Amino acid sequence: MNSGAKNSRHTVCICGNTSFRTVFNYDAPPAGEVAFQFSRDKAYQRQVVCCDVCGHFLSLHDMDEGNLYGDDYVTANYRDQQGIKEAFDRINSLPPEKSDNLGRAERVLAFAENYFAKDRFVQCKPTILDVGSGLCVFLYRMQQRGWTGTAIDVDPRQIEHARSIGVAAVQGSFTEIAEADSYDAVAFNKVLEHFRDPVAMLAHSRKFLEPGGFTYVELPDGEIAQHDGPSREEFFIDHHHVFSAASLAILASRADYVLHSFERLREPSGKYTLRGFLT
Ligand SMILES: [Zn+2]
Repeated sequence: MNSGAKNSRHTVCICGNTSFRTVFNYDAPPAGEVAFQFSRDKAYQRQVVCCDVCGHFLSLHDMDEGNLYGDDYVTANYRDQQGIKEAFDRINSLPPEKSDNLGRAERVLAFAENYFAKDRFVQCKPTILDVGSGLCVFLYRMQQRGWTGTAIDVDPRQIEHARSIGVAAVQGSFTEIAEADSYDAVAFNKVLEHFRDPVAMLAHSRKFLEPGGFTYVELPDGEIAQHDGPSREEFFIDHHHVFSAASLAILASRADYVLHSFERLREPSGKYTLRGFLT
């Protein structure tokens, strides 16, 4: 540890390494970061550090993010039920070249087309579980393309919204829900980086996967984003983890998956993103 970061002394990377270099120091929220109540309660002090071994990034701070995803997050992003509906309508009507969600759906569909045996879906539709489904623009698209989608989200407003657009939805925390259904695909679209233990979260998804299914993960790409400086959204406070190509592979392996393939891209929204297909 060579950064002097006061709270990184006992920090362990997902690769197991414990030495980091400091990449960014923050003493105020970067422009565009959601102004959470917890990050206004006391002096804002935060560091982003990078693992010396695998290039993974961790965001370190002592602020208590508490009930971030239950309430603050949705309220800050979408205001209320009507705000959720308006955001869905706006994003859902974007042209394909401007839509991260359409690009994601087309990519998952193309992978599935090649990956699954031709006779797998003769008598049934393929099914997909989207963990942390948010506005459901992705699942809505998948359903338009012949899949059956199920959404999981912690926020009851997002669940109500999902059902209102014809998507089956389960409210709760993914690692605590009792549902035992299994799916041909499980998706984590910009979800795992929000959790302290993304390995446990990802490993849990294996219980929901049909034999021969796959899991799709989308993660912020810190390896590329770091070159654009500390104000990049990939490094905002709601991301505990920001990934490298190597740390994506380690994440998959530690969750008992095989990383079938991955790619990095800059999305229409400008986000730097890693996409992985896990089997
Ligand atoms: Zn590492």
